[in-house]
Amino acid sequence: MKVIKFGGSSMADAKQFKKVANIVISDPERRVVVVSAPGKRGENDTKVTDMLISLAETVRDGGDIGEGIDEVVSRYESIAKDLKLDRSIVFTIRADIISRIANRNEEYPKFLDSMKAAGEDNSAKLMAAYLKSRGQNAEYVNPKDAGLYLTTEFGNAQVLPESYALLKKLLEKKTLIIFPGFFGYSKDGDVVTFSRGGSDVTGGILAAALNADVYENFTDVDFVYAANPHIVDKPFPIPLFTYEEMRELSYGGFSVLHEEALAPVYSLGIPVNIRNTNNPDAPGTFIVADDKAPKSTFPVVGIAADKGFLTIHVYKYMMNREIGFGRRLLQILEEEGISYEHTPSGIDSISVIIRESNCPKDKLDRVTEKIRATLNVNSVNVVHNQAIVMLVGRGMTKSVGIAARAAEAFNRAGININMINQGSSEVSIMFGVEDADAKPAVKALYEEFFD
Ligand code: ASP
Repeated sequence: MKVIKFGGSSMADAKQFKKVANIVISDPERRVVVVSAPGKRGENDTKVTDMLISLAETVRDGGDIGEGIDEVVSRYESIAKDLKLDRSIVFTIRADIISRIANRNEEYPKFLDSMKAAGEDNSAKLMAAYLKSRGQNAEYVNPKDAGLYLTTEFGNAQVLPESYALLKKLLEKKTLIIFPGFFGYSKDGDVVTFSRGGSDVTGGILAAALNADVYENFTDVDFVYAANPHIVDKPFPIPLFTYEEMRELSYGGFSVLHEEALAPVYSLGIPVNIRNTNNPDAPGTFIVADDKAPKSTFPVVGIAADKGFLTIHVYKYMMNREIGFGRRLLQILEEEGISYEHTPSGIDSISVIIRESNCPKDKLDRVTEKIRATLNVNSVNVVHNQAIVMLVGRGMTKSVGIAARAAEAFNRAGININMINQGSSEVSIMFGVEDADAKPAVKALYEEFFD
């Protein structure tokens, strides 16, 4: 059986709903369908999730909410109307939004998550109604009833391991299951969402829980490309990545798949197939386990870049002789609840790279203060506006001179490398550059390795 997920662009209007239904109906193995909230219909459109976030802000600030509610409901209304569905579904959706506001939790992050979840929840109800209208035995399934339990990290939750056994019971259902992506429930019964784009994660969890033969992830591109098509003109389509490669690329800024979506399927080796709702005949890109992947003909299969990092540079003369220095430094971050990304080091220096979004100014000030006060260092500097550029490919392990070629490409483009880091898996090399250099760096590396 297949678990199949549709992203926001596949759910944006009635035309897209029809394509989704056709794809689902065309293959009886597609038993579990995970849906996103309606996304953008064009360049200047707004995603329903973003509308719901602004509505939640208006509620919090005591503003006039009528317009915001109408805006959200009308997105669903126009889909329902064009699909010739009974109007009652639109009243149900309006009542749902109003009730989330009326029964809101005092704590804003809880309320915000319950509002954000309304996007996928109502999308799933609408898709189930439409599939029924086309004679399918479809059923909307609520994540709480199915047992999708998450940590209480509002807006950034993770699945609780006990969910898997509970979700497995979905296999007993004879219906075509329509499951809203992006959210689950805490053990206390609150709605909790994953981070943005998290419907991909729901799909991965369901594919793992049900031991699916494949997790099909439908989006709006025929393939995953070797680099961002907004940066590089007509980049190479890549038909196959390994989990490790895709994980590195998603982490490094490829937005085609949420970076946590592969974790649930990774240990089971369930293949993921990224496909295009607008061109369902295209085979798409497969993401498979390393031992199922053919030997790579290219050393590099993808180049990604992401902005918005800061680096804390710590210098202490004779650092390498001090036992426990690294642990104490990282403990300071742990005490502030900050996760770090990388820690390149030298003999007397260590740098900690952190996503700016994980480290608000007050926390950063406390961290630098504690480092100064407790670690007796010579200097602590914070550098903002940093980007990381990732060169990814399983073939790099066996190839000589990749770093040299990359450095030469940076040199030709006049880009200063602040940091180089190669993980022990050798599936990627990461470069730290200034934010402004991120795009030129991707172009330069693409020219070197693909053109
Ligand atoms: N609708 C959510 C978002 O825009 C989740 C998703 O689409 O995967 O982030």
